[in-house]
Amino acid sequence: MKTIKIGNVKSESGKINYGFIDAMDLPTGTKDRIPVVIAQGKNEGPTFFLTANIHGNELTGVAVLHELVTEDLVKDLKGTIVSIPTLNPTALRLYQRHPEYQDEDPNRQFPEGPFARPDEDDEDKKYPKPFEQVANLLYSYFKKYADYHLDIHNHSLRSVPYSIIDRIFYDGDDDKKEAEELAKKQLGMVEAFGAGAMMTADFPPKKYLNLKYHRSLSGAVLNSLRIPAFTVELGSNSVLYPEIIAGAVKATRNLLRWAGMLNSPKEKITEYSVPIPEYRLRRIEHPRANQSGIIKLLVGPGEKVTKGQAIAKITDIHGRPIGEGIIKTEYDGYMIALRDQMTIYPNMGIAEMGIRDVDEIVVPMPPKK
Ligand SMILES: [Zn+2]
Repeated sequence: MKTIKIGNVKSESGKINYGFIDAMDLPTGTKDRIPVVIAQGKNEGPTFFLTANIHGNELTGVAVLHELVTEDLVKDLKGTIVSIPTLNPTALRLYQRHPEYQDEDPNRQFPEGPFARPDEDDEDKKYPKPFEQVANLLYSYFKKYADYHLDIHNHSLRSVPYSIIDRIFYDGDDDKKEAEELAKKQLGMVEAFGAGAMMTADFPPKKYLNLKYHRSLSGAVLNSLRIPAFTVELGSNSVLYPEIIAGAVKATRNLLRWAGMLNSPKEKITEYSVPIPEYRLRRIEHPRANQSGIIKLLVGPGEKVTKGQAIAKITDIHGRPIGEGIIKTEYDGYMIALRDQMTIYPNMGIAEMGIRDVDEIVVPMPPKK
């Protein structure tokens, strides 16, 4: 069996070993240590990285990975699971999205790979920020060992579980073929995870890059390392729902079956369900308010809506309707995540919707300047 060494943890055939990566020295004398669990079967097989909680208030994945990696699982396992229940321990402790030591999205700090543009004038690039250093270290382990990767998130308080299909960028014709193969595997993984997860492509290609999704963990693993990977969003953050955890544990085992790491029959997920759209979706912040006001939503997470349907009521603080008093959608689609605040300002989104994706998953790299 392949020996895997991450931080102070070493794989051992037929065993689960536990330890830490020393990720960052803290100014107060202790360290930010990222927990690592390496579970290795007795038979050869791929190495699957399972990660969670890069956003510290997204809790479901921590519980899923705790429940998943057991002695029973290892008995039947072919290959190795590297489980990282929290990629961001300081944020988990503080119950917030970003690490204690960098007030920025930690899931946009991974290496740029082929997207890097040499920029002589940008001195900052010579000095990676603290969590960028942590991200570089984590990435080096993926580069060395990973065959597959799943990253578990939660979108927001009022959201439905869905999977994100990252865009895959290619450079030239030969690379296009490789990118298409990779896209097939990505789709295979998303389908295997199932759980009724809606398949949602991320934003359109240009916006994907503007938002630095290629520097998210699964985006970088997929686009820069060319390792099959995807992100799943398991509904509400900040709370734990036992049915979502139980269903997602089964879904993750189904994913291991897809990778040839378990022989047992596929499990049916009965704990929760979400709609399965007949077309692939992409995300859009929509509808938006055109005035400030107080909103009351008229739809729920996961709901299918049609163009012209009222999504929210909007009133002034006295409760009197503003304009016609409702905000409508201009698209057919599904409500993915709803605003969890009552107040709204002009141009702000009331929801994130999934609407029909008209772009390809595999798309050309933007030209180098
Ligand atoms: Zn997240």
